[in-house]
Amino acid sequence: MIDFVQPISDEFKKINFIKGARDGKYPYSHSLLIGDFLIDTGISSRLLRKLKRIYPINNVLLSHWHEDHTSGNRLLPNTKFFIHPKDKFLIENVNKFNEFYGISNSPVEEELEWLMEGLKLENTKIDNLLEDNQIIKVGNGFDIRIIHTPGHTAGHCAFLELNSKITFLADIDLTNFIFYAGIDSNLIDFEESLDKLSQYDIKTAVTGHRGIIEGEKAIKKELNDYKSIIYKRDERILSYFSETNPQRIIDLKNKNIIYKHYSQFKEYEIIAEMIMIQKHFDKFNTIGLIEQKGNGYILS
Ligand SMILES: [Zn+2]
Ligand SMILES: [Zn+2]
Repeated sequence: MIDFVQPISDEFKKINFIKGARDGKYPYSHSLLIGDFLIDTGISSRLLRKLKRIYPINNVLLSHWHEDHTSGNRLLPNTKFFIHPKDKFLIENVNKFNEFYGISNSPVEEELEWLMEGLKLENTKIDNLLEDNQIIKVGNGFDIRIIHTPGHTAGHCAFLELNSKITFLADIDLTNFIFYAGIDSNLIDFEESLDKLSQYDIKTAVTGHRGIIEGEKAIKKELNDYKSIIYKRDERILSYFSETNPQRIIDLKNKNIIYKHYSQFKEYEIIAEMIMIQKHFDKFNTIGLIEQKGNGYILS
């Protein structure tokens, strides 16, 4: 047994929580190992090398394309990789990441390139595609249901092991921050994905950055609380709108609307914030709360 490999329950010894480096903080994340299926590979190269020496890993299920969940792929050359079709293109073309984070031609672009070099990120060849509701047979009585949960990325998936009801939620990570600053992020999808997950009885949730959360009731409440972060942001952004003066996204720049404080990554956070505000505008527009007037939007 190695210290970062932790069985989740006495009953299901072949399901292990794999604690990522730096307690799963970005640019790392936690993983789940079910038999010889590993979900996500962002625990860090050092830990992944140790893990694969002791546990055979023949299959990798990727929750989504982001670098903090996929950087270890290159260390598993004889492994079959699975991802949702919507995220396949990016994991096979890591040079497109800048574009999908909306930072092409910005000063932040270099920072991401530097980070990706540090992680030694490489393109991954995908062997199998994941489909919503598909059941993957792991063996030893374990079956994994694929739950397509778009919003964070277009192809983001959660993984429910049917026997134990242990579920890997990846970046639906139930912390107090929600990220949807990808070009392929979508707020309405994100909310629907949270509602979808609430319909399953999940006994144990494992998230990519927070770790293990126990208990069906607690998990349902956490999913609901998580959704209310989106609603609070909705309210904050809507408070800037009127029925007469057109509101533009650019007018909301640099106002700490999403990030309460900017960190040392301020330049990136401001870009991410603008994209996320854009997603709220998209949502308001789709549900008919706002309408275009001139170069901005007013309340309908
Ligand atoms: Zn992510
Ligand atoms: Zn993540």
